[in-house]
Amino acid sequence: MTVDKLKKQLITVIEEVARVLSRSKHAVVFTGAGISAESGIPTFRGSGGLWAKYNAEEVASVDGFMKNPKAFWEFIKELVKNKSKPNSAHYAIAELEKLGIVRTVITQNIDMLHQRAGSEEVIELHGSMSTIKCLECGKTYDWKEIEPKLTDCPPVCECGSTYLKPAVVFFGEPLPEDAMARAVKHASSCDTFMVVGSSLVVYPAAYLPFVAKKSGATLIILNAEPTHADEYFDYVLHGKAGDILPRIAEAVSRFLTRA
Ligand code: NAD
Repeated sequence: MTVDKLKKQLITVIEEVARVLSRSKHAVVFTGAGISAESGIPTFRGSGGLWAKYNAEEVASVDGFMKNPKAFWEFIKELVKNKSKPNSAHYAIAELEKLGIVRTVITQNIDMLHQRAGSEEVIELHGSMSTIKCLECGKTYDWKEIEPKLTDCPPVCECGSTYLKPAVVFFGEPLPEDAMARAVKHASSCDTFMVVGSSLVVYPAAYLPFVAKKSGATLIILNAEPTHADEYFDYVLHGKAGDILPRIAEAVSRFLTRA
């Protein structure tokens, strides 16, 4: 297919997706690392992903952390370098919430960028970096207190311990029960479920689109690359979230004004 034809096809799908969203009474957006790529935070998989550089078992598992907290914090430094800010994709989702279309964002990300963009209903399936707890003395810190300490990696607790663990879900740890229960409830009661920037390979989070489909929701996926699950989706968009989501939000707003 020619570039012109591909561009036209993308415009058509954007309009169709916007039409579906504008009629939706309960839309859910499910995000992964890809939505924050344009904020300068590397993804795990996909081109330029962090797994090419780090070993998940070493840096983000409970065993790995207990053996070497420094390796984990070096990895976090890379994840949050550039003091990342929300990008146009995060803002577009917050806008869709303000328009009354998106009822909740379910995110696998730990970077808190949805909240910083103005989304109010955010379910953090893998926790977040907002609080950090010392596993030895129990003292808890806010991210803002720890971030400046990252120059001396790993950060050290007042009690001298280097076992400062953020409230994120490590490999091998269960997901927070309450967050997963709320996510399943939304997935099984929404009418539209849109995935943005996820390779859909991290379970159990990646089951959620299938829960939504089983309950009759329309499925949309927007990802930079094809995923193994594209065939199950009603609408598939390949491209950058920061480019495409604002166009979808603009079209939704246009349809709502006309209605
Ligand atoms: P993933 O790394 O497995 O997949 C990311 C997907 O995003 C890839 O398929 C890639 O093609 C796509 N992508 C890259 N740039 C994009 C863009 N600009 N627009 C749209 N798509 C883009 O991510 P995942 O599915 O979220 O699973 C990995 C796990 O890693 C999650 O559990 C998450 O907690 C964690 N993680 C979080 C962050 C973060 O908080 N920002 C960053 C890295 C990893």
